[in-house]
Amino acid sequence: MAAMDADNNLLNLEFNEFDNSLREYATNFNVPIIKDEGLALLEQIILIKKPKRILEIGTAIGYSAIRMNRLIGSEIYTIERNEKMYNEALKNIKSINKEDEIHIIYKDALDAFSDVSFLEFDLIFIDAAKAQYMKFFNLYTPLLTKGGIVFCDNMLFHGLVMDEENYKNLSRSVRGLARKLKDFHNDLLNNKEYKTSIFDVGDGVSISIKL
Ligand code: SAH
Ligand code: MG
Repeated sequence: MAAMDADNNLLNLEFNEFDNSLREYATNFNVPIIKDEGLALLEQIILIKKPKRILEIGTAIGYSAIRMNRLIGSEIYTIERNEKMYNEALKNIKSINKEDEIHIIYKDALDAFSDVSFLEFDLIFIDAAKAQYMKFFNLYTPLLTKGGIVFCDNMLFHGLVMDEENYKNLSRSVRGLARKLKDFHNDLLNNKEYKTSIFDVGDGVSISIKL
């Protein structure tokens, strides 16, 4: 899979100069933007589903928000708690004049419900602190339309989640995260209100459809 990520020849992602500048910033400053394979899958889903409005949890520098918006002009609400990331994202979104379509909320996502609770979303992209995925899911999915999609990134956490044999070799904090994600997998897969599958794409992504 590493080779596929490296030359990208199976994906049809196009990056303009602006995208490349964000990608370079992410590399230089270790910002964990979505991997190409995960992005390609997310973009295909957006083109199929045509969401009018998308909620993103975890903006970072605005890379995925900008990519998601560009496809069909979906309105984006995106939440970021880190001041430096928030400022960087705001600068990036303003530089392409998209502040009317991409709204950033500078808050911890666990405290931001009232900022969006009057809205409905067709897609929710969860891509923030992994230990809190379940809380994000429970808090925000009441705003998801029927047939709406929850897409979560980093669900396999560099392969650590499924490798339970190896949990003992991990540091306490990493082991805690792996266990939390594994619990989240089980909850999602057993949730009868959604149809979920988890894919070994990028860093692992889940797709849950509200039934
Ligand atoms: N979606 C982005 C990458 C997000 S990286 C992209 O693919 O381009 C994860 C981001 O989530 C980080 O910037 C981090 O500061 C933010 N984050 C983590 N936990 C959060 C929380 N509880 N509330 C808001 N933002 C959070
Ligand atoms: Mg991610």
